[in-house]
Amino acid sequence: MNILVINCGSSSLKYQLINMKDESVLAIGLVERIGLDGSRLKHEAAGKDKKVIEVPMNNHKEALTEVLDALVSKEYGAIESLSEIEAAGHRMVHAGEFYSSSVIITDDVMEKVEECIDLAPLHNPPNITGVKAIMELLPSIKNVAVFDTAFHQTMPAESYIYPLPYELYEKYGLRRYGFHGTSHRYVSQRAAEILGKDIKDLKLISCHLGNGASVDAIDGGKSVATSMGFTPLEGLAMGTRCGDIDPAIVTFIMEKENLDIKGINNLMNKKSGVLGISGISSDFRDIEDAAADGNERATLALNTFDLRVKKYIAAYAAVMGGVDAVIFTAGLGENSADNRKNICSNLEFMGIEIDEELNKVRGKEAIVNKEGSAVKVMVIPTNEELMIARDTLELLK
Ligand code: ADP
Repeated sequence: MNILVINCGSSSLKYQLINMKDESVLAIGLVERIGLDGSRLKHEAAGKDKKVIEVPMNNHKEALTEVLDALVSKEYGAIESLSEIEAAGHRMVHAGEFYSSSVIITDDVMEKVEECIDLAPLHNPPNITGVKAIMELLPSIKNVAVFDTAFHQTMPAESYIYPLPYELYEKYGLRRYGFHGTSHRYVSQRAAEILGKDIKDLKLISCHLGNGASVDAIDGGKSVATSMGFTPLEGLAMGTRCGDIDPAIVTFIMEKENLDIKGINNLMNKKSGVLGISGISSDFRDIEDAAADGNERATLALNTFDLRVKKYIAAYAAVMGGVDAVIFTAGLGENSADNRKNICSNLEFMGIEIDEELNKVRGKEAIVNKEGSAVKVMVIPTNEELMIARDTLELLK
């Protein structure tokens, strides 16, 4: 069975066609600049040359039409006919409190996702557009929604309630939801497999460190605390997001810098994080290079980032009453030995002892703690697409 995995952003669309017989990727691609000048599709089928198709794509339906054409192209396609696509799995961001697992998409599901637009105004609308487009283009197949928030619905109330008037939670659903759930779920399951343990017996801390970043405490396979909150802005310092700050800063800067709501949101989401501190870039590679050249603000940005991850690891071990393994994943987590080392330093008192040699690994699965370290330290590349495809297959069974 071939499953098409789709992840629609506001002006982008990522996809993978996965053969679930052996979980091999038949094709992978990305559409950029949907609805803008210069829209293009980058497509690659297994064993074939990469193809870049530059045509105007005014909306997600036009983009998906190009994607489907590419998938069946004689020259650079992956399948002979669209009938070989048996289902679509959609990465969806926000399901509020409606869903704690993936679901087959029905009219009712679409209504619920629409109800959650207020909670994820940038993400849910393009997600919905993607589903509608597939329903029109491939009307006979089933669609499955895999939500970023679903995994965190197991958090106990004390983990998700904010110390604000309780009525605001009742009125607006103002609570912590958490994100990156598909990634945290994938790496935690993989960690259990690699360790040869039942996930029910493990206390895991998953650090998804990419441009967006979050830490998750996973006890017995269930998310019990996570660093992103009502929106993905909370928690760690990120590429461009500020993460945790004193809430009083918001009104202070609005007044001093004469910012309106849009302005302050832009500042906290797009101009802060390691970009804000370093003044160099949101890309950790650029910041690491600058730090190596002696740039003090670059070093400060990295240290600030690492310190926060460290604090969450220690806090979440306390939340769970222990930790068996710390997992690093996503762009920085998978690739940056220096940051992993820095994050784990001073955590020896908790039994976290990283091995400098083993830690030199990049982008592949590895156990990188010292022999005798009470806590395992693991690098596990995330694979949200595969998780989405597996959920889709499971629901179709
Ligand atoms: P997202 O999906 O949130 O955009 P990714 O998981 O792709 O993020 O991670 C992107 C981030 O990972 C970038 O900031 C990039 O700098 C960082 N990254 C990727 N490769 C490396 C590397 N080799 N060393 C350090 N950082 C890296």
